[in-house]
Amino acid sequence: MEAWKRELGHNITDLGELRNFVSLDEKELEDVVEKLPFATTRYYLSLIDPTDPDDPIRRMVVPSAEELSIEGDLDVSGEKDNTKFLGLQHKYRETVLILATHRCSSYCRYCFRKRMVGRSRGEILDNFRNAVEYIHEHKEVSNVLITGGDPLVLDTSIISDFLKMLVKVEHLDFIRIGTRMPVVYPSRFLNDRRLVRLLNVYNNFKKIYLVTHFNHPREITELAREAVRILLDHNIVISNQTVLLRGVNDDPMTMAKLQKKLTSIGILPYYVFQCRPVQGTRHQFQVPLVKGVKIVEGARALCDGHSKRFRFIMSHRAGKIEVVGIYGDQFVFKYHQARDRENLNKIMTFRVDKQARWLDDFMEQQKPLTPAV
Ligand code: SF4
Repeated sequence: MEAWKRELGHNITDLGELRNFVSLDEKELEDVVEKLPFATTRYYLSLIDPTDPDDPIRRMVVPSAEELSIEGDLDVSGEKDNTKFLGLQHKYRETVLILATHRCSSYCRYCFRKRMVGRSRGEILDNFRNAVEYIHEHKEVSNVLITGGDPLVLDTSIISDFLKMLVKVEHLDFIRIGTRMPVVYPSRFLNDRRLVRLLNVYNNFKKIYLVTHFNHPREITELAREAVRILLDHNIVISNQTVLLRGVNDDPMTMAKLQKKLTSIGILPYYVFQCRPVQGTRHQFQVPLVKGVKIVEGARALCDGHSKRFRFIMSHRAGKIEVVGIYGDQFVFKYHQARDRENLNKIMTFRVDKQARWLDDFMEQQKPLTPAV
């Protein structure tokens, strides 16, 4: 067995083992892990300060009874409506999204695909050829996002097969791989140079982007830096999507430090996502939008131009809605991507509502001041 897989085989997967790393109330958490899977790497656990019950890394990975809250929905971004066949979603004209696996090396407690990640293969692509055929037939598609779960838990030879097929699609401009491996298991790139080499080879045919997911500056360790350096040395572009999470990065200093550190190691800040109102996540992690704007604007004020290139986005069923800011008593939003293309670039304003945490919270209470959604 390859070294990286052997190491993943030593992941912490139950509460009894977890108790050796952090203090917890096992009894209280039994119901949580019965419903929502728990697993994490020893490396990621080592980043937790065991003496701090509110440690931000702990919040992201250690189960909590708050996850049993029934607030929120399971599919808030409308993934079901955009599914063309199992494992393939086509929401925006240029982009096809492939669910390649339901597994991850570490399960984030705030995951927006809690309905299936770590639980069921029911939404996963059966046969990659079918996806490639669909992309061949849709000349408007310029890029593919391979995601899941974390596609880099798959065998390197499977990833190679995927890329081999995709690089042959003439009208594709680039391929994205969504992965949290540089954060939770950087050794994936250190212990499997074959993976890095094959990314480099296919990168000569179609540009390959890794889209990763650092949420806190303490995740940028020496080992993570080393993994990033290896990827950059092999010409792989890495961009980052951060989720704004209560108790993790919901203050301007932490957010600014994160974005600046990412930029300093060569990762492009891409999005800061408003945490989605997903069941088992909304209650524990979502920050009101008024506060979110203050955090993002405060962080931007502390950043240089490169570090503040990210957009603050809600990934809504209607599209990627940029949270532009507050002007007087109005909240301003703009369609950055739209499911219905006639909405592209449209601006919407609503009266400021201090409790609102998602676009629907405004839409349920009031009519937009400008123009209708
Ligand atoms: S790595 Fe991504 S898909 Fe996996 S649990 Fe975390 S957020 Fe969800």
